[in-house]
Amino acid sequence: MMHVVRQHTGWIEVICGSMFSGKTEELIRRLRRAVIARQKVEIFKPSIDKRYSEAEIVSHDQQKIKSRTIDKAEDILKYALEAQVVGIDEAQFFDESLVKVCQTLANMGKRVIVAGLDQDFRGKPFEPIPQLLAVAEYITKTHAICVICGNPANHTYRKSKQKDKVVVGAADIYEARCRNCFIPPDQEEENNE
Ligand code: ZN
Repeated sequence: MMHVVRQHTGWIEVICGSMFSGKTEELIRRLRRAVIARQKVEIFKPSIDKRYSEAEIVSHDQQKIKSRTIDKAEDILKYALEAQVVGIDEAQFFDESLVKVCQTLANMGKRVIVAGLDQDFRGKPFEPIPQLLAVAEYITKTHAICVICGNPANHTYRKSKQKDKVVVGAADIYEARCRNCFIPPDQEEENNE
């Protein structure tokens, strides 16, 4: 008799793209499927992101799912030990230790689903997402629609002139733009001179 023994193995999925590309919607969709299958799910988001709700992940279109707000990536290990599926939203706001945390969870046999911005407002790779992409089994790039021309948008354009890498906001400060319509802030300044 042949037996196929399925090894219990974990993995990392990354959902990344610009703002307004539906990353959180896609994360919520996958986590809901797991909940429906009665898998044990734990969901985390960084305390820096207080835009919508303290204890829920909420997408721009107001879909929501219960989550735990944490200060640093290592805290995930404390709360995720029993989980079969671990969801992490707004992952770009964690530091590089998130990569090690996700690897540890996947090595424990868990499915780890991470959503985050892959580029900052300057169009530069937004760590730790690029490092996570390198070690992930599955990668999904989501696209928004460029508000200028309607092409698929891969960039997040900041309408305000703040220089800090992290300025938390939504449609009041940011808009999605394609490669043609995106102007990095340093080039914009040159044009104004
Ligand atoms: Zn465009």
